[in-house]
Amino acid sequence: MFRIRKIYDVTSAANRDAIEQVQEIMRRQFPRTRSKDLSKLPRQLNDPLQYQYRTILFVAENAVGKVKGFATLLHMSDINIAYLELISAAPGKSGGGIGGVLYDRVREEALSLGVLGIFLECSVDDPALINDPEILKENARRLKFYEQYGTFPILNNIYATPAEPGDEDLYFLMYDSLGRDTRLSRERVRDVVRAVLERKYGDLFDKQHIEMVARSFRDDPVVLGTPKYVRRPTKTPVSIYQPSNSIALVVNESHNIHHVTDRGYVEAPVRIPVILHELNKTQYFTRIKPINAPDRLIRRVHDKDYIDYLNRACKSLPLGKSIYPIIFPIRNVLRPPKDIELQVGYYCMDTFTPLNRNAYLAAHGAVDCAVTGASALLENYHFAYALVRPPGHHAERRAFGGFCYFNSAAVAAEYLSDYGRVAVLDVDFHHGNGTQDIFYERSDVLTVSIHGHPKFAYPHFSGFSDEKGQREGEGFNINFPLPESTTAEQYHRTLNKALKHIKVYNPDFMVVCLGLDTAKSDPTGTWSLRAGDFRENGRMIGSLGIATLIVQEGGYRTRTLGTNARYFFEGIMMSTHKKDMQKKFIRLN
Ligand SMILES: [Zn+2]
Repeated sequence: MFRIRKIYDVTSAANRDAIEQVQEIMRRQFPRTRSKDLSKLPRQLNDPLQYQYRTILFVAENAVGKVKGFATLLHMSDINIAYLELISAAPGKSGGGIGGVLYDRVREEALSLGVLGIFLECSVDDPALINDPEILKENARRLKFYEQYGTFPILNNIYATPAEPGDEDLYFLMYDSLGRDTRLSRERVRDVVRAVLERKYGDLFDKQHIEMVARSFRDDPVVLGTPKYVRRPTKTPVSIYQPSNSIALVVNESHNIHHVTDRGYVEAPVRIPVILHELNKTQYFTRIKPINAPDRLIRRVHDKDYIDYLNRACKSLPLGKSIYPIIFPIRNVLRPPKDIELQVGYYCMDTFTPLNRNAYLAAHGAVDCAVTGASALLENYHFAYALVRPPGHHAERRAFGGFCYFNSAAVAAEYLSDYGRVAVLDVDFHHGNGTQDIFYERSDVLTVSIHGHPKFAYPHFSGFSDEKGQREGEGFNINFPLPESTTAEQYHRTLNKALKHIKVYNPDFMVVCLGLDTAKSDPTGTWSLRAGDFRENGRMIGSLGIATLIVQEGGYRTRTLGTNARYFFEGIMMSTHKKDMQKKFIRLN
């Protein structure tokens, strides 16, 4: 699986990393590229004035940012054309369809820019000029690729004439009209030739030579080649890139392997089907398959020895057996007990969240779904929903509890933080102590939580309003503890305040920890929000216009859980701000 991501600056870590990978592909796929041309890419992206064109980089990358191919498109707005500078798959990746997907994306972009068409260079296939049969074959393959799109060489000119005898590094100037019946005037093409040669090869050719090449285009309108390798062009240009109007839905399908049958354990498998049943009554969702989140991403959020312990301890337990902590060796953390069952209190914060055979696997599955949802936001989704259990927001860097083992929302936020600023909004009835703990010293992830006051609500030890973050993170953690009896009106006033803080922070992404245990009659909560109140929550949250991942957390009254979830998403859909959604995907000059 890969996605095409558009890069227009070098500010974020993920963009810089992608650019370095692109440079490596250039080095290997285009060994004749001059080193100064290799190193100029970041400058090119940053400084359109110097180069007299704006550079748009498209990378085909997988969910963890490994670049599989790229294309650079130069937008020359003064002459209203796009010029495809380079397009390439990573070494060993050709034939995987990456080139085709990239070229489709480039054409979409050109259409949205409203340019006359795309110009590009392609190596010549003339046996009179090229001696090496292998190179000739490769060049023919490239021309065939473009022919499918109706992209042909402009004929009858000296663009591809060797400057010196024996020079085989020769290119046609090609034109893609983007499926329109456009007649290109001679003068227009001469302007294009001058612009391309001056701006791209100004240090190689003098003005006189450039003028000579430009004037060699004599036909008016210019004449294009005809199909030689395909019968007729088949690829129609795709419509302008549209963000999806639906919500990407990722479900932790193997959640039910984690089933604690002990009396009163309300975090039960039935929670997922009751929600799905209600969501299926709507047309809001597009189901997408979860991908595997890499362990190194989880290690950025949880301590390695904690992860290893969970994995080891769970594997060691027979099916059906649960272990609960009985001692908490807090006085001597340097000497945890040797016995694996006694160690559990070293990593756990309460006495009611057990370990069992499948807790690790199910929790990992929940992380996979959250990261998949986050990744959908980098594609064309404005909203994604990870419907998962076990929940995650109580899981701290090195401790589990409150039915949570891995903090899925935090891993997703960590993933998104490579691409921009992130706000996490926790609306579960219980304080998101895990997420607070993980990001407490960071300013690139804002954490905001609305919850029952810790003096009466779990986890009791955190969630106070004076916990505001530390060091770099000071001021970037905001808690709204509310009284035991809180009305829907009070709740919405507080939510409004929380959203104002988020708006000021101006994040690129938002992660919502959606606990539905704020509902009336929830066995773990004391408030009484009803379906209509959840719809209002959804509407208010969605109205911020920020690309948002929603991760399922608590909510234990299974009779109303599904309906409340459906109403929440109804509110989300009511909020849909198309204009804001467009902004993220199509950034014009
Ligand atoms: Zn909760």
